[in-house]
Amino acid sequence: MTEPIKTDALVIGAGPCGLFAVFELGLLDIKTHLVDVLDKVGGQCAELYPEKPIYDIPAVPRVTGQELVDALMVQIAPFGPTFHLGEMVTTIERIGDPLFRCTTDRGTVFEAKVVIVAAGGGSFQPKRPPIKGIEAYEDSSVFYAVRKMETFRDKRLMIVGGGDSALDWTVNLQPIAHRVTLVHRRDEFRAAPDTVNKMRSLVARGDMDLVIGQVMSLEGEGGALSAAVVRTNDGVTSTIPCEAMLPFFGLTMKLGPIADWGVALQDGLVAVDTEKFETSVPGLFAIGDINTYPGKLKLILSGFHEGALMAQAASRYVFPEKRVVFQYTTSSTSLQKKLGVA
Ligand code: FAD
Repeated sequence: MTEPIKTDALVIGAGPCGLFAVFELGLLDIKTHLVDVLDKVGGQCAELYPEKPIYDIPAVPRVTGQELVDALMVQIAPFGPTFHLGEMVTTIERIGDPLFRCTTDRGTVFEAKVVIVAAGGGSFQPKRPPIKGIEAYEDSSVFYAVRKMETFRDKRLMIVGGGDSALDWTVNLQPIAHRVTLVHRRDEFRAAPDTVNKMRSLVARGDMDLVIGQVMSLEGEGGALSAAVVRTNDGVTSTIPCEAMLPFFGLTMKLGPIADWGVALQDGLVAVDTEKFETSVPGLFAIGDINTYPGKLKLILSGFHEGALMAQAASRYVFPEKRVVFQYTTSSTSLQKKLGVA
């Protein structure tokens, strides 16, 4: 087994509520690692509405989803949290009183005194395109995210989709791939206009191919892709050689492995009390959109409040001997020192 990473607290989900939890835990000297299946922090705010303004964050009249995430990152920086992005927590096992062993789909193992599930609507998972037999090539030739650009060096690469991810990776991988073919069902793209223009100039210069049509089937053996059969919108079918494919068909949110973690669920959400936001398993907390209790409102401000109360309760597990003293950041020199402002 991989050597476990030991930490006071493991936060599952780096959405706004998971990020703010780091602040509240940090004020109480609790060190945190965070895991998110996405390759960036910010949860729904960063993934679903980065440019939309939010109007109901207390004392912040208007802030976009991404600006809120950026501000939270500045606010938690003094506590130096460690991020593990692009990894999904798959199992949680209670091995002490309390002590948890958590593992991710990439084999990282954590041992944490407390675990905070801040998993929102569940994990974001890529939508699988409707191509028969694609499962056989997943993770060997077909990938839904780029973890290492080097994987695609000198490969004939097919990118499928018309949004930001498809266009960004087309432009970024074109210089290192042997040849890039972008396939999209319409000659219109939802990506940033600047990236679309860059892609069009690469096509005009003959440095990559653009095919308006749909992938019908894949050819290859033993998980190694050799070609894709593509039908253009005018009905012509052709076989395009490629060793790797990146389909970008958007993301869906699924509860995922949380259902197997042994916590009491109610209507697919994690049931918690409203004093500590603790689940049915002592030492395992749930905050933000993933939890439920009478009167729950799925608002960012609710998750922030839940994080503050959770941290007080978590502190009793992490430092059983220590008395938690309630303090204000305005007047406590000790808190200000932790924040690096005194
Ligand atoms: P999320 O933001 O959902 O983040 C959870 C994170 O956990 C995700 O990044 C996910 O990938 C990760 N995760 C889940 N499971 C795992 C796992 N097993 N392993 C690793 N990672 C995992 N709220 C407001 O208060 N005001 C608004 O104006 C507002 N407008 C909105 C507009 C839109 C279009 C949408 C979609 C939502 C809006 N919301 C608004 C709701 C708000 O975004 C959510 O309440 C908030 O994002 C919840 O934060 P969270 O941290 O609980 O979860």
